[in-house]
Amino acid sequence: LCFTLHLILLRDFINWPSSLLPLILNLRQMVHFKCVANTACSQCRVLGSASESGLVTLSHILGKMIPSDLERRILEAKQKGFVPFLVSATAGTTVYGAFDPLIAIADICKKYKIWMHVDGAWGGGLLMSRKHKWKLNGVERANSVTWNPHKMMGVPLQCSALLVREEGLMQSCNQMHASYLFQQDKHYDLSYDTGDKALQCGRHVDVFKLWLMWRAKGTTGFEAQIDKCLELAEYLYNKIKNREGYQMVFDGKPQHTNVCFWYIPPSLRSVEDSEERMSRLMKVAPVIKARMMEYGTTMVSYQPLGDKVNFFRMVISNPAATHQDIDFLIDEIERLGQDL
Ligand SMILES: *Cc1c(COP(=O)(O)O)cnc(C)c1O
Repeated sequence: LCFTLHLILLRDFINWPSSLLPLILNLRQMVHFKCVANTACSQCRVLGSASESGLVTLSHILGKMIPSDLERRILEAKQKGFVPFLVSATAGTTVYGAFDPLIAIADICKKYKIWMHVDGAWGGGLLMSRKHKWKLNGVERANSVTWNPHKMMGVPLQCSALLVREEGLMQSCNQMHASYLFQQDKHYDLSYDTGDKALQCGRHVDVFKLWLMWRAKGTTGFEAQIDKCLELAEYLYNKIKNREGYQMVFDGKPQHTNVCFWYIPPSLRSVEDSEERMSRLMKVAPVIKARMMEYGTTMVSYQPLGDKVNFFRMVISNPAATHQDIDFLIDEIERLGQDL
């Protein structure tokens, strides 16, 4: 939420430095673009509720933005007199773990002078890995990036960063010049007074945890941790992709550690009628999850998405997990779901 407010403020500060009021009024005339596949979207809620028509959701392939569709919708919006101002791309969507094509999106943003934001809350950690960081190619061209080291990198909650390209922009946009707090005549380096840069004032120094971990593990330590999680996800994917009773939600190897699948109990495997199959399949994951919780053996989240009924989304972010844990998970789902 705070990131979103920041984004609006930053973006607006560039266009209307003299006053923030036109921002609020003009929001109705502005448009921001976001992929519908990304469901963790308080950003959409904030921007969307401030302007009913201000949010354009785009079509997508497996959760990935389609650049030609983005460009078409930008032109459409401009024709209607709107001012497209923000494209919010995602590097690692919450459900599918999909990465938007950032280079193509950056080209479009540059062409139409639109702020490019990359939500790397979940996928940003992959930048630590030489093997996987190509998935974020183009992120270096973004105007701003969100990144949650408390997710993939295992920093204790909470540790979230908003990185803004232009140096000094946060300061000039947010500073209140509170002379009782941020005196300019202090006899030491004022760059340590970071409080005036942000919307908030007194807060935890959350980044300290990341700094300590980085010192202890080094970049190669984080890299090993992240590569391990991705390797485990691939192991799970390889084990279940052709296994009887499992069906993948999308084809191909997952890009992140999100492995999305249905468990099809034996009684459902021969049901051909697709309506009956769907209405029964919808109820499978919630029952297995309830049993997981009851037995206390494992926890995997599930959700429906678009026209897809409840499926499991196994996300691996704990590098201490092992191949045996993954084997156990598969056996356990079968044990808990075989009579459904
Ligand atoms: C988790 C997540 C968020 C939300 O991050 P918070 O710091 O919890 O607000 C945003 N975007 C994506 C893609 C996420 O996975």
